Amino acid sequence: MNSVSSASRSAPLHDYAALLSELGSHLAGRRESGASTGLLIVHIINLKRINTTVGYRMGQKASLDFALQVNQMLRETDWMRPLAHDRFAVVLDRLKNPGHMVLAANRIARFTRSIGVNDDSGLQLEVRIGAAMFPEQAQNAESLLRNAELAVETASLRGSIFSIYEAAETQHLTEDWDIEAQIGEGLENNEFELLYQPKIDARTLLPCGAEGLMRWHSTALGAVSTERFIQIIETTDHIDALTSFALHCAARNLSEWPTCDAELNVAVNLSPSVIEHGSCVSRFKQVAAIWGVELTRFTAEVTENGIISTAGAGLDALQELRDAGIRVSIDDFGTGNSSLAYFKSIPADEVKIDKSFVFGMLDNDANHRLVKTIIDLAHGFGLDVVAEGVENAEVVKALQQLGCDVLQGYHFARPMKANDFVDYLTGSADASRRLRAL
Ligand code: C2E
Ligand code: CA
Ligand code: CA
Repeated sequence: MNSVSSASRSAPLHDYAALLSELGSHLAGRRESGASTGLLIVHIINLKRINTTVGYRMGQKASLDFALQVNQMLRETDWMRPLAHDRFAVVLDRLKNPGHMVLAANRIARFTRSIGVNDDSGLQLEVRIGAAMFPEQAQNAESLLRNAELAVETASLRGSIFSIYEAAETQHLTEDWDIEAQIGEGLENNEFELLYQPKIDARTLLPCGAEGLMRWHSTALGAVSTERFIQIIETTDHIDALTSFALHCAARNLSEWPTCDAELNVAVNLSPSVIEHGSCVSRFKQVAAIWGVELTRFTAEVTENGIISTAGAGLDALQELRDAGIRVSIDDFGTGNSSLAYFKSIPADEVKIDKSFVFGMLDNDANHRLVKTIIDLAHGFGLDVVAEGVENAEVVKALQQLGCDVLQGYHFARPMKANDFVDYLTGSADASRRLRAL
């Protein structure tokens, strides 16, 4: 069994299916004897950097040398398979206790530090290792592999080289895993829905628009928190499909809703990766053309940190959106690390003060001063200010006094279905007519 040299050269890389079947047979053989099996997933975390520094061929050679040498360190009954150029599975047969898994991982990590990539570069391989044990921490090959992979994630989150699978600690990672696995199906099965939360003109206290907020009614997982699934979907390609879905919902509803005195504007949240990939404007244009809606009726909400993370590309994309007539709003303002100088150069029409500052602005003087400063500063640069998280009448009054332009929060309404938003608008229009008639 102890042969990575033939495996590295002939076995297809990324072949989890082959490993699962091999591991399955191995575990079946050990099940009767009651012997434990350890699985290490060894991830070379800097192989990409090595490839870009000294070339792909050199990187590949380093990874193969690494595998061959680790393989030589293993006992006769242990075995190793490549899963990718930078990922290996090491199966430790007949383990007496988890401590031996730690010892093996330690030897691999120590040994790795002694491998140079080539004489000139001074580069060394760096690894991260996750471990899980059968039958103690997993009952079959699939869960053993999954739990060892989860342990790699845990090590990464902790910034450590090694981690053993621990059920409680990695539970949220397991859930994240499930969410990620279900997203594609959720999109296919139409399980997503865009709700609308009214944005209120602070002067007239009438609705001037809405923010589209996504909900997922997952048949497989039940209710999933929006913040949670957005965070996960943002790391996958599905974010593009979800953004297109949000844009289509917003445009279709804008084309259906009755327009009042002023034209309603709907805000759509855009993740940093969507901004970064470019073609944002063309997506808006396509969708707007299909539903016959003016581009000026959309706002693109992007978070302050999101723009910083995309660096120059983000700013260019925002400028393109504005040039096309789409409003640009900087979300969660105040939570990022942007400097005043940066503020000056953001191509935007509005900033949204993060709800964490608005919640406590009456009890906390620092928050009150911060809200005032943001409003004055934004106005100084010709930007409108929206306050989110407005939960009571006292905060409404305080924000009006500070000159805030638009208010949003549970005090006015929670996010609601598109049909309910029409009723909400009709109710507000009636109230406004009654007021004017007085
Ligand atoms: P966000 O853009 O900052 O949206 C505001 C969040 O605050 C929403 O949470 C909203 O329901 C909540 N909220 C509004 N008023 C109040 C209030 O008075 N009190 C309290 N406690 N909360 C209030 P939600 O709907 O759970 O959305 C969470 C986040 O998920 C959003 O934060 C946004 O970043 C993201 N998100 C939502 N829909 C989309 C989407 O379609 N695409 C993308 N990329 N992100 C989305
Ligand atoms: Ca938002
Ligand atoms: Ca926000």
